[in-house]
Amino acid sequence: MHRSPVTKVISVILAAAAALNLSACSAGKEKQRYSKAYLEFFDTVTQIIGYEEDEETFSRNCEKVYSLLEEYHQLTDIYHSYEGVNNVRTINRSAGVEPVKVDEKLIDLLEFSKEMCRVTGGACNIAMGSVLSIWHKYREAGINDPESAELPPMKDLTEAAQHCDIDHLIIDRDAGTVFLDDPEMSLDMGAAAKGYAVERAAELLMNEGVTSGYTLNIGGNVRTIGTKADGSDWAAGIQNPDTEDEENPYIVRLKLNGMSLVTSGNYQRYYEVNGVRYHHIIDPVTLMPLNNFASVSILCNDSGKADALSTALFNMTIGDGKSLLANIGGIEAIWVLPDGSYECTDGFSELIID
Ligand code: AMP
Ligand code: MG
Repeated sequence: MHRSPVTKVISVILAAAAALNLSACSAGKEKQRYSKAYLEFFDTVTQIIGYEEDEETFSRNCEKVYSLLEEYHQLTDIYHSYEGVNNVRTINRSAGVEPVKVDEKLIDLLEFSKEMCRVTGGACNIAMGSVLSIWHKYREAGINDPESAELPPMKDLTEAAQHCDIDHLIIDRDAGTVFLDDPEMSLDMGAAAKGYAVERAAELLMNEGVTSGYTLNIGGNVRTIGTKADGSDWAAGIQNPDTEDEENPYIVRLKLNGMSLVTSGNYQRYYEVNGVRYHHIIDPVTLMPLNNFASVSILCNDSGKADALSTALFNMTIGDGKSLLANIGGIEAIWVLPDGSYECTDGFSELIID
């Protein structure tokens, strides 16, 4: 759940962020590095880095990205309402009652999410809201009062799990409506809304003629457009799950040009019960957070897909994850194990910077 007020550790930090005063030449004109950060969206930090000849052009692009991200933030919010906006909260509140007219952007996102649920065999399922909201309630209570932290009763979880069938998410594109025909069902967009929004923002910049020199990063969902302005590589790091180890912030660093890198990690959002950590990614089979991995990161050309798949692969064995990626094609991954060792696909290892 991406809206709760918790301190977040950003899983991937662009290594490029340190290079504050880089400049580059393109077509004879000097390009300068600019950056902007926002805290308004998806309960995390949004950072835009861009190389431009002047700050005005960069700021204009940032304003367009800002408006689009604001729109996606509002449309996918399950905790707040916004005047004049029918969002996922509206859909959840109308479950079993009536179809809700929504913006076409939300229809597209819900269709995409439904497709990702199918592709991942339900390992990433936005219709798990009823189960996820129980975990959310216990996690928030446990964070606020660690002494009394408790696990949700399995009986509550299994009851809620009866209401997670995505076939009950009825999308009528012609009418522009969405209806949950199970009154107990609800949607939770936390698994892929950020990545999807980042991808749409990158698309917007590319439609404006941007071909390189930009990076968008929402809480570690990173999307680069082309290379840096001087043709050199963008680099990103896979966070060391031992977030206290300041000497070794990354497990590996890799080249990231014109691609997305999205991480699901057990250190991003969690609480503890009797000294055991329970994180925010819930396996639809056991209805519990699994401890097979510290993180899974997905590398591909579509940040929305990368986000949905990072959540899905967290809930699978490495073998099943590899088979799924092989079926889809063109997608790479790295699995970081709890002891900090890792396994990755061949295409991923080719991009690792020694
Ligand atoms: P991510 O960090 O991208 O893996 O997304 C995790 C967020 O997605 C959680 O905070 C929940 O809101 C939601 N979520 C957790 N488990 C699942 C799941 N199995 N399928 C879909 N969404 C999930
Ligand atoms: Mg995800």
